Amino acid sequence: MIAVGQRKKDNYGLKMLLYIIGLFLIMAAMFYKIGQNEPLAPSFAMAPVTDKPIYILKSYATAVIYQKNGLHKSQYSEKLEKFNAYIVSMGYKTEYIQEDEIKSLSNGDILFMPDALALSSKAKEQIKIFVKNGGNIFFNFTAGFSDAKGKYLGDGFVNEITGLKISKDKNFISFKESIFLTQRILSPLNNTNSGILLDAPTYDLIPIFITPKSLKPDVFMTTYSQVNPPLAKDKSGDFSIEESGALWHGYYGDGKWFYMNLPSYVFYGSLEQKNDYKQISHAIINFLSTDVIIQKFPYIDRESVVFVSEDTEFKFENFKKFSDLAKKYEIPVTAFIVSSLAEKKEHHDMIVEISKNPFVEFGSHSHTHKKIVDTNESYIKQETSSTKTILDLFASSPIVGFRPPREELNSIMKKNLSESGFKYVLGKSQNHLYPRYSKSENELLIIPRHGTDDYSYLINLDWDQDEIVEQIKKETEFVTGLNGIFSLSIHTHLFAYNSNIDIVEKYFQYLKQRPTLKPLNGRSIAIRVAQNRNISVDYNKIGNIITLNIENRSSIGVNDFHLKLFKNPNIKISSISSNQAKISEGSIINIKYLEPTSKITLFIELEN
Ligand SMILES: [Zn+2]
Repeated sequence: MIAVGQRKKDNYGLKMLLYIIGLFLIMAAMFYKIGQNEPLAPSFAMAPVTDKPIYILKSYATAVIYQKNGLHKSQYSEKLEKFNAYIVSMGYKTEYIQEDEIKSLSNGDILFMPDALALSSKAKEQIKIFVKNGGNIFFNFTAGFSDAKGKYLGDGFVNEITGLKISKDKNFISFKESIFLTQRILSPLNNTNSGILLDAPTYDLIPIFITPKSLKPDVFMTTYSQVNPPLAKDKSGDFSIEESGALWHGYYGDGKWFYMNLPSYVFYGSLEQKNDYKQISHAIINFLSTDVIIQKFPYIDRESVVFVSEDTEFKFENFKKFSDLAKKYEIPVTAFIVSSLAEKKEHHDMIVEISKNPFVEFGSHSHTHKKIVDTNESYIKQETSSTKTILDLFASSPIVGFRPPREELNSIMKKNLSESGFKYVLGKSQNHLYPRYSKSENELLIIPRHGTDDYSYLINLDWDQDEIVEQIKKETEFVTGLNGIFSLSIHTHLFAYNSNIDIVEKYFQYLKQRPTLKPLNGRSIAIRVAQNRNISVDYNKIGNIITLNIENRSSIGVNDFHLKLFKNPNIKISSISSNQAKISEGSIINIKYLEPTSKITLFIELEN
């Protein structure tokens, strides 16, 4: 609602009113739900990450602006109280602070400035001095967009600290309904490797920022499917990746900041995802209260993955075209094969020939491609476990991957797959980007499919080839930008059919031009995720020395293990204690080899 350029001034009071109504509705919905559900056990939440007080700015200038726009100033203080209660509910001590007290804060303190839409120029100066000297801030929405007299100044204050600039064509957008947020996996926010989808109700005009090259958003505004930035709800068109950031972190002088373009109620507005939001909030406070954060790469030596696979079924003979393309462009791919078709005499020579192609991994796509869920157990066995026996006869090494027909998977199928030696399933899209192990069968990895499939393009959407290739590239850039796995899942009778295969070829040519997007087959992804799960990392920093402990619990050694160190770029690294490890540009720590069941300790020395 503070989204008011001068030209929008007339609507200011109305927007404010809508905002207050919106907030009231959220609160009403929360109370309604609290009445119906048992409260969650407090142990579910994460522990506080600092015992220092969190300062919360009570901005006098913002209160004045509220009054000027016909609202009572208590509406601002009520908002602050809700935010304060939220921080206290996570186990932190808080203290309110006025604008003229900012100068009394010490280096290392943490200041939150929820929805501080107006700030006096003096306060802005004090905040900048505080951060430059090593203070830490969280600010959001249209922080300091107005001065203490209500004059609209725009994004200058935010821009000076963060480098973010309001988008010229999007400016302020009303989403009119929920948007979704997705966390980038390799970020100081992440502690679960999940890239989860969060529901974020918004009732205001949201400022849209362009992310400069020097920053990477930690959270993006996405569609429900997580493969696209949100589609604009007015005539300003689709968002680009640069316009879809929602939360960023960075450094200013010796201090640190987190900035979010959304109002503060987003944090406590969702009851279902209360704990997910609390985890993010803990992670924000953790970043603001520590000098370094170290995260494992999600896939051992890669930040992101592209996974190309084929459902090898109807029009089986097109398998050859897929295999030839993989070989021509040296792209590792996976073919999920319907085993009753593989057994057919007329396919024998082709299968044997393809099995010699080192770029094609064989997996199973059931025996007959008929419905499996809701059938009896012996039928399920035939369609899952027994396909391995058949396909192993052809495959160059025992198969480990399964893709269920119609993406339908139940627990009996998972049990049979796991017991017969399958290691992973390419499933349907999920509300998280990172693969997870099936709850019942710990060893079966479910890789979510994130990417529009060929059926949708050709049948539902009826797009032409160039449009399809462009869209696949866009989705690839977006999902891999979030450190997810972009999965291009094709069929023998769709993208591999006739000239449609040119789409796949054009995509392979694009992958060759983007060397950072090295594709992996399903087996390699499953191995990396399993290795990653068996490696634990802990660290602390005393003085200038970071002590980093890495434990590999697996009985298999790990090559080329990567970690990312998040720290102020002004602080240079002077040495690392092992010649097995090196730190490259962008603070990437690379360890050549982790021995099986081993622990290593590295000392990283920072310059003074
Ligand atoms: Zn299929």
